[in-house]
Amino acid sequence: MLYPPRRLADAQKAVNAAGLDALLLTPGSDLRYLTGYHAHALERLTCLVLPAQGEATLIVPRLERPAAEASPAPGTGVRVVDHEDGTDPYPLVRKALGGPVRAVGLADRMWATQVLALRDALPEARQRLAGEVLAPMRMRKSPAEVAALREAGAAIDAVHARMGEWLRAGRTEAEVGADIAGAIRDAGHDTVDFVIVASGPNGASPHHATSDRVIQPGDPVVVDIGGTMPSGYCSDSTRTYAVGAAPREFSDYYEVLFAAQRASVAAVRPGVPASSVDAAARSMIADAGYGEAFLHRTGHGIGLDGHEEPYIVAGNDLPLEPGMAFSVEPGIYLAGRHGARIEDIVVCTAGGVERLNTLSTSLVEL
Ligand code: ZN
Ligand code: ZN
Ligand code: ZN
Repeated sequence: MLYPPRRLADAQKAVNAAGLDALLLTPGSDLRYLTGYHAHALERLTCLVLPAQGEATLIVPRLERPAAEASPAPGTGVRVVDHEDGTDPYPLVRKALGGPVRAVGLADRMWATQVLALRDALPEARQRLAGEVLAPMRMRKSPAEVAALREAGAAIDAVHARMGEWLRAGRTEAEVGADIAGAIRDAGHDTVDFVIVASGPNGASPHHATSDRVIQPGDPVVVDIGGTMPSGYCSDSTRTYAVGAAPREFSDYYEVLFAAQRASVAAVRPGVPASSVDAAARSMIADAGYGEAFLHRTGHGIGLDGHEEPYIVAGNDLPLEPGMAFSVEPGIYLAGRHGARIEDIVVCTAGGVERLNTLSTSLVEL
């Protein structure tokens, strides 16, 4: 089950252990993770009040009550309370807490307007991050969550597999990007979260989006794409293509990157620190003389958010555990010339690692 009702009870135990009195969760992935309720963040207050003990309350605008009641949230034992437009909803938070509290954990991505309103409504309560208790839960994926990520991985692989239909010399990055966005939806995603088509010199900017640059013969093109599936789980995969014959210098460092990304994936197994997965790629790239050109961490966790814990970065000594899912995406970027990145989502398993993006990582010449 993707959103099992027992998560609320598990979270309550963690809330107690962390010395918090309650979690306050506005719409976003934390709320969805605990209740299955997928609500949009708006100026009207929607807030799950999860006390350390006892019943949880979901405060919603009256017009969203039917949607909240139709969601999986009531099935998890959550009581739904509504407020009318024109009334102040924040006293309902205080009421749901049943008395003064010392410390509350707020959803990590709550809007500042709500953070400050909650500070005024609960002036005695210290505000901390709900991520203190929820990030450790969310980064250990259940088999159902891994299955949802596997489905997302297959969907984005299906888009990369069609790249030859769209990516060619004479078209702009934006034209190619529009075709890719349509294909991301056609492959089963609910939303297109990002489309990077970085051709030629734009490939040296890791988070380039698209532009009106016309793709030239011989251009290397970095294509990094992702979306969110109806399950709520995200995809994210990068392949680098060559439109015709790539420059020799590029092919040389692509081989380095190819080997480094493979070594990094192969380093994933239970008990290994996240930092060593980063080091596996980084040391090979540095040994080949491109250390300065690999200017970001190797990866990020993925789940209901496109970027979440665990981060695959130097200094993160978190030991990997089965169920942790994250990207392995080293890159080499030569400013003014071109760049390359290879990105797969992988999951740590009892026996080692499973790649959730299964396409070849060899350079594809189109
Ligand atoms: Zn990125
Ligand atoms: Zn990516
Ligand atoms: Zn990524």
